[in-house]
Amino acid sequence: MAVTDSRGITGFTLARIGEVEAVARAAAPGPWLRGTEREHLVDDVMYGQSTVWPGHIAQVCNFEYAAEREGNAAHIARHDPRFVLTWCEFLRWQVGVHHRAPGNWAGSPPGGFCAGCLSDIESYHSNMPWPCETARRIAGLFRYQPDGTQHPEWKDGWAHELQPPG
Ligand SMILES: [Zn+2]
Repeated sequence: MAVTDSRGITGFTLARIGEVEAVARAAAPGPWLRGTEREHLVDDVMYGQSTVWPGHIAQVCNFEYAAEREGNAAHIARHDPRFVLTWCEFLRWQVGVHHRAPGNWAGSPPGGFCAGCLSDIESYHSNMPWPCETARRIAGLFRYQPDGTQHPEWKDGWAHELQPPG
């Protein structure tokens, strides 16, 4: 992978993926399950794999008082660390494919070309300039921080507009 823009869109995206991975690795490993899925567990508690007692489960969180407890439980279980880390692995693979191609050619767009799109003849004309739409869409996943504010390293020139949270 030719990542040369540590302060550019690729560096931004890889840094954000790394942050998501760090959060996922600090949590109880997946799979996560709700107490309703097994007898002798508390219904409104989410459980994950224990890191203290391998082979056992431990409490992740309790959503007893949430009005949306059914939806919250399903959402939390669906996005357990195992899923998030797999998702991050896929994003890293995409970032490895879609990066700025080395070198410049006559008639190059100002930012150069996307190496990944250069090999994809179907999208050659629409996605070739760097950063390509794929790179911008992946970076756009991380435009907003968990508190809803725009990430301070985000540059509006990267925008492929995604809806802000909330
Ligand atoms: Zn591309």
